[in-house]
Amino acid sequence: PYKQRLLVVANRLPVSAVRKGEDSWSLEISAGGLVSALLGVKEFEAKWIGWAGVNVPDEIGQRALTKALAEKRCIPVFLDEEIVHQYYNGYCNNILWPLFHYLGLPQEDRLATTRSFQSQFDAYKKANQMFADVVNEHYEEGDVVWCHDYHLMFLPKCLKEYNSSMKVGWFLHTPFPSSEIHRTLPSRSDLLRSVLAADLVGFHTYDYARHFVSACTRILGLEGTPEGVEDQGKLTRVAAFPIGIDSDRFIRALEVPQVQEHIKELKERFAGRKVMLGVDRLDMIKGIPQKILAFEKFLEENSSWRDQVVLLQIAVPTRTDVPEYQKLTSQVHEIVGRINGRFGTLTAVPIHHLDRSLDFYALCALYAVTDIALVTSLRDGMNLVSYEFVACQASKKGVLILSEFAGAAQSLGAGAILVNPWNITEVASSIGYALNMPADEREKRHRHNFMHVTAHTAQEWAETFVSELNDTIVEAQLRT
Ligand code: UDP
Repeated sequence: PYKQRLLVVANRLPVSAVRKGEDSWSLEISAGGLVSALLGVKEFEAKWIGWAGVNVPDEIGQRALTKALAEKRCIPVFLDEEIVHQYYNGYCNNILWPLFHYLGLPQEDRLATTRSFQSQFDAYKKANQMFADVVNEHYEEGDVVWCHDYHLMFLPKCLKEYNSSMKVGWFLHTPFPSSEIHRTLPSRSDLLRSVLAADLVGFHTYDYARHFVSACTRILGLEGTPEGVEDQGKLTRVAAFPIGIDSDRFIRALEVPQVQEHIKELKERFAGRKVMLGVDRLDMIKGIPQKILAFEKFLEENSSWRDQVVLLQIAVPTRTDVPEYQKLTSQVHEIVGRINGRFGTLTAVPIHHLDRSLDFYALCALYAVTDIALVTSLRDGMNLVSYEFVACQASKKGVLILSEFAGAAQSLGAGAILVNPWNITEVASSIGYALNMPADEREKRHRHNFMHVTAHTAQEWAETFVSELNDTIVEAQLRT
């Protein structure tokens, strides 16, 4: 049977490529949320377009990699080192990422940033044009093109310039900030206008969608409607599509003997103590210092709990070459050292802090043995860790303490304990509340979250977005 083709365009392809020789590559699929979402979607034939994350300057290497990737339904965009530096490290990670998470534009060395801004934005546009060229080359009539994230805000416009009848959707995986924040961005209008070239624009939450519409009305002077944004009779549909996870993948993993063995080991290791868990990339937005300080305050005020609770913090290294991130790492190490020095004994410490990632099975085992998960993001598009924890808690029915500034607070708010991560007193008392929570309240809260996580999966998310995109185009045709 005929399947509609779906071209998924994202900065990074869902594979990591390692060069083995002049014309040979080894590829490994990375199973992120987006990948499993689209693997589950059976009604479309999906192809991926993106950067493979490696610099391939020679034509022989490029041809070999293109061929190897084709078997995985992937099509590469080749970006050279200079473009990656200016577009990816510069404009995407140094400007858009902090701004969209309310950390503002770079403050240090303000003049240098102001001066390099234009060249970074030029590189951003150039990189987006390179993505558009590859999409255009592979596009066939009737295809749906789904652009992802803040790296590719210029792409919808480039695509529509090639072909105004292309069906184009764009989805943002981060928050979209208040228009007052977006207003400070020198390229504020260019970015909004190019996103508006898409037929459908999606966000995780209703708030982010509203912020985007406000930015368009206040900064561009366009009209916001309940459907989206209107410009001279042309409507760009704007809506919320909260992402989910492949919950079955996590639930099934708990049955794997290797995972069960791991669970048993962890239970023995932490017998007699309540396990609290944090799993975050070591990024400013995750509020890791705030979380650890709140835990310290809890220990200070509750001496009887000191030897009965342990905090396991998995801090996955990220952007380790950037000074701000190095500073955060040493700041966290300093706080952890102080607290362990203060409350540790000869045989036990209150915090196990790990600067590393875990494999999928180890992570599932950890989620399963946890009594309390602590998510204290200062801003977070959705936060999938909170969903994954819930999926693995069918037997334990532990408590989720969740930042109200994570997108997940909109969906798991009724089951979780919501906190303001800046309010360390509130987080500390929530830890106490969670530790003392009666079993029936825990069960009720867990059931609420578990139903949500298993009902609203990543697969459903992808299907909803694409079918909404198809509908939007039919409706637009009916209007004209
Ligand atoms: N994760 C992982 N290995 C680890 C720790 C985390 O693969 O050692 C995964 C985790 O399962 C989750 C993702 O990293 O799917 C983090 O997603 P989230 O939305 O919570 O935050 P992000 O890192 O995207 O900001």
